[in-house]
Amino acid sequence: MLADKDRIFTNVYGFQSPGLAAAQARGDWDNTKKLMEVGQDEIIDEIKASGLRGRGGAGFPTGMKWSFMPKESKDGRPSFLVINADESEPGSCKDREIIRHDPHKLIEGALVAGFAMRARAAYIYIRGEYIREAEALQRAIDEAYDAGLVGNNASGSGYDFDVFMHRGAGAYICGEETAMIESLEGKKGQPRLKPPFPAGAGLYGCPTTVNNVESIAVVPTILRRGAEWFASFGRENNKGTKLFQISGHVNKPCVVEEAMSITFEELIEKHCGGIRGGWDNLLAVIPGGSSVPLVPGEQIRSAHMDFDGLKELGSGLGTAGVIVMDKSTDIVRAISRISYFYKHESCGQCTPCREGTGWMWRVMKRLETGAAEVEEIDMLYNVTKQVEGHTICALGDAAAWPIQGLLKHFRPELERRIAEREAGMAEAAE
Ligand code: NAD
Ligand code: SF4
Repeated sequence: MLADKDRIFTNVYGFQSPGLAAAQARGDWDNTKKLMEVGQDEIIDEIKASGLRGRGGAGFPTGMKWSFMPKESKDGRPSFLVINADESEPGSCKDREIIRHDPHKLIEGALVAGFAMRARAAYIYIRGEYIREAEALQRAIDEAYDAGLVGNNASGSGYDFDVFMHRGAGAYICGEETAMIESLEGKKGQPRLKPPFPAGAGLYGCPTTVNNVESIAVVPTILRRGAEWFASFGRENNKGTKLFQISGHVNKPCVVEEAMSITFEELIEKHCGGIRGGWDNLLAVIPGGSSVPLVPGEQIRSAHMDFDGLKELGSGLGTAGVIVMDKSTDIVRAISRISYFYKHESCGQCTPCREGTGWMWRVMKRLETGAAEVEEIDMLYNVTKQVEGHTICALGDAAAWPIQGLLKHFRPELERRIAEREAGMAEAAE
């Protein structure tokens, strides 16, 4: 179990004030200028050495992403850092806790990361539903400006760096990085084709890096304590500490910072008081937010909660939004509800996603009650394969994968429902 002294987010439960004085007492903004004096490329190298991988779900190496940003400005064009606080993935609720209770970690991280990638400003794009969080964040930004920590000559470093907060309007798709950039530009939030990646052409056509809140908020601590310290947690390729968000049928749902690669059993036993009704009552787990396939209960108990450990089980770490379902769950209904979510949130720009998400949801609704034909199970699988990998952004994959997971692990349950309904109808007809 991660020792308290190794926790980066020491105020994640809000026992102390989120304000500047309390944040400084916790170690934030402690001689930030010195962190920056190390040098821009050196900061990027340190983040690379720490093994930090993006905490928004995809796990792309953070230092490598920063290194794609140009070292010299072309035609005087500025570079930007965009921070993705549009946390909308069902099951994910960690960035909210950082913003509510530890916002100065994020703002200090924005300055240091922005400096390293030669950005002129950071735009923090926060989901529209996070009303109190947006207020807390703006208060912290104002405090940082008033104290000279950001703005002109930020923290006395000689570097000018602005931080702006932008509120979304409730569209899940605006969490996709290029849709977010479109939205920031005042347009309809629809994903762009990649490449070019944002480092080549991002906000207002300028070089841009989009990073998740947690990825940025851990940066000052990594620089203060050293890449080696951060890399001492977890396994090869899966380093550091991580905020896990455990919801559903555990005795004590929570958000907790733990070492990457902790086993599922340890995570649940140490922090959540166990599975409701005991381990024999565990049906399935969606380990990384709704975009990753479920894992049956009997397979996940000893799994390492990291990118590779969950990939081996045909799933993923995603945002580490762990949704636990016990045997009282109607698993078909649960996945059907998730497929409705993706149908509702599809931006409609590409045909496989626009048509496929609706098609998948309609079949899922019939499977829920057993009203589908048994042949539709294979047909549904084929539809998921037509959507997966054939769309502009990852929402298509995210809609297909949970259904694929259900078909892989719970096909007998689907067949049982169809057979039961047919038997019931035959009986009624007699
Ligand atoms: P992605 O793999 O396409 O990209 C991840 C990041 O790496 C992006 O910033 C991208 O620009 C960069 N990248 C990837 N390949 C690159 C290359 N060749 N050159 C330069 N940069 C490159 O994934 P994505 O579509 O950004 O994110 C999908 C993930 O988002 C899913 O895994 C899901 O878990 C997660 N997600 C999270 C939330 C949330 O609320 N936090 C919501 C929806 C989805
Ligand atoms: Fe829009 Fe879906 Fe296409 Fe993404 S995959 S661009 S959400 S239609």
